[in-house]
Amino acid sequence: MSFVSSDHPFGPEPHELGWIHTATELAAQFARTAAEFDDTAELPLTNLRRLHAAGLDTATLPTELGGSSLSYRAFGTIVRLLSAACPSTACIWLMHIGAAVGLAQMSTPDTARYYADELTAGKRFANALSEPGSGNLFLMPQQTAEPADGGYRLTGAKRFCSGCEIADHFLVNALVDGKPAFFGVEPDHTVTYVPIWDTMGLRASRSQLIEFTGTLLRADRQGIPATEPRPNHIAAGLPYLSLGIADAALAALTTHAQTRTIPTTGQTLTDLQWVQFGAAEAHLQLEAAAAYTGQMAWLADQNSPEFLPASMRAKPLANEAARDIAQLGVRIGGGSGYLRTSPIQRIFRDAQAPGLMAYSVEVCKSHIGREVLAKGG
Ligand SMILES: Cc1cc2nc3c(=O)[nH]c(=O)nc-3n(C[C@H](O)[C@H](O)[C@H](O)COP(=O)(O)OP(=O)(O)OC[C@H]3O[C@@H](n4cnc5c(N)ncnc54)[C@H](O)[C@@H]3O)c2cc1C
Repeated sequence: MSFVSSDHPFGPEPHELGWIHTATELAAQFARTAAEFDDTAELPLTNLRRLHAAGLDTATLPTELGGSSLSYRAFGTIVRLLSAACPSTACIWLMHIGAAVGLAQMSTPDTARYYADELTAGKRFANALSEPGSGNLFLMPQQTAEPADGGYRLTGAKRFCSGCEIADHFLVNALVDGKPAFFGVEPDHTVTYVPIWDTMGLRASRSQLIEFTGTLLRADRQGIPATEPRPNHIAAGLPYLSLGIADAALAALTTHAQTRTIPTTGQTLTDLQWVQFGAAEAHLQLEAAAAYTGQMAWLADQNSPEFLPASMRAKPLANEAARDIAQLGVRIGGGSGYLRTSPIQRIFRDAQAPGLMAYSVEVCKSHIGREVLAKGG
């Protein structure tokens, strides 16, 4: 895995290496149960609790809120390590941190302290942003919250909310006075879950549909619009989710190629030229995607205006590396890799999901393509 080293500008800071070691150790444990969670599609609760107990949740908070102001480079590296081991765990953790830190960032100092204390106490956060009708344009809600005592009331549905069933807090968006607005919401009897999540991949992320029936969006929990650009943990972390799956795909196909013998020649698959070329292309694609993603995280750490465009580029680069390498794994794995007992088939299924998550590969490419064509090359 590239750029874990602290002497690379796109890697974590030297003082953050302890967090990387902690995540590496936890990831080794999570890898042992990833197939089981995929099979049962149960939430990986033990993994999430261990991440919290190790202090990783709190570390992502700014120092003034009791955290360690973990850099985006370190945060991304941790997401990548977790994703290589158990991508459902990584997906829920990414959404959890994105919602918690996002809510703290967009709140008044007192409310920010409240959310920070809740995260530190082990409470769980999730994002309820995507609507059945809005698809990929998840930041442009179509559902209107109506004025009510103490705020607004929302009746509608949000779809694909990772880890929602255990969430104590949601980051929810809705139209208020015709404009998108964000709120922190604590679920009550007006919030119900519809179990739609029976998917081909990221099965243990349990990204269910949520129904809101007249749910109060409290005015004092409405997000305050940012006065300056602020990198978002989800945008920064999503490419790393794909890089981790790509790492797992390359490791799985390598193990298979090293151990599978061709009976007629006694060679292993590693001796075949098409396998060598495939492995080389996979390695190069992954290195290039990781280098660009590292640069994106570095831009986030500089709070650069270039971060947002870079995140739109890193996402398809990393998603396509994961999908392509997982596809190569299916070819190299042959019938053995196609068996339910093989990690190759699971990784192939998981590799499809991050490319669908907003902004999808197609949405990113539409955006980039328009920019390129407008400049004339
Ligand atoms: C594993 C997983 C976890 C998720 N977790 C969360 C979560 O925690 N919280 C949350 O709020 N949401 C979550 N989502 C939702 C996700 O981020 C997207 O908002 C949602 O998947 C998009 O809707 P859709 O899948 O119906 O796709 P659609 O947007 O309907 O897309 C269908 C196809 O059309 C393409 N397309 C759509 N719009 C455009 C466009 N403008 N230009 C070009 N092509 C376009 C897409 O690329 C895709 O190929 C999750 C989704 C997945 C798969």
